[in-house]
Amino acid sequence: MKYQITVAWLYPDLMNTYGDRGNIICIKKRCEWRDITCKIKELNTDFDKRELENCDILFMGGAQDRQQQIVTKDIKGEKSNIIKEMIINGTPGLFICGAYQFLGNYYKESDGAIIDCLKILDLYTESPKESNNRLIGDIAIKSYFLKDKPYTLIGFENHGGRTYLGKNLKPLGKVVSGYGNNGEDSTEGIIYKNIIGTYSHGPVLPKNPKLADFLIEASLKIKYKNIKLKEINDILETKAREAIANRLDLEL
Ligand code: GLN
Repeated sequence: MKYQITVAWLYPDLMNTYGDRGNIICIKKRCEWRDITCKIKELNTDFDKRELENCDILFMGGAQDRQQQIVTKDIKGEKSNIIKEMIINGTPGLFICGAYQFLGNYYKESDGAIIDCLKILDLYTESPKESNNRLIGDIAIKSYFLKDKPYTLIGFENHGGRTYLGKNLKPLGKVVSGYGNNGEDSTEGIIYKNIIGTYSHGPVLPKNPKLADFLIEASLKIKYKNIKLKEINDILETKAREAIANRLDLEL
């Protein structure tokens, strides 16, 4: 049997910065290398909510505040309810930076304006008044998304917003180098069911192939039950990871 998945790429025209589209290329390639068909559905402003039916992975990249305001208007209501239901039912997804902020209760911009968010997860984000006070640079975190062993996730962050998690939420990992959610509590991102929220651009998946496979495997398990992904030779990805780890002076 030939496996097939569909990725819902939410708002590629607006939410797509610092190489985030590389995540889509990565998912597609890692499927193709295993002879899995991977369709990408680009869902831009005014898309029909029925397009979300039969999507197996959700992906949304980051953006600046202006784009986030536009997307908020489009996604609120029924689309947001469907996405919430998919997340609760275990659909895997990756939400980067501005998209990650969307999952929470609200995002307060540096001028004090409030963007009302999707309220899917109990977290909120606030930008400090000084809009030049951004958290920028390479980031490494120790993450337990694989459950049995830690994995160092590597990325690049560039955000003004500081995100704070409600006490029942689990961060994606602990910051080893960089700022993470808020630059204060050493947490980075969020993992909830099969959803990952993170400040890591980069793009994050090619630098962290195990995270890409986590999303692919989770989607296939829902659709086809007992699945074990074939190993791929990640020698180039490993070299890329090592290069950044060396720059940050840490061991993988
Ligand atoms: N506007 C958000 C912030 O600066 C998101 C930035 C991004 O997605 N790169 O906090």
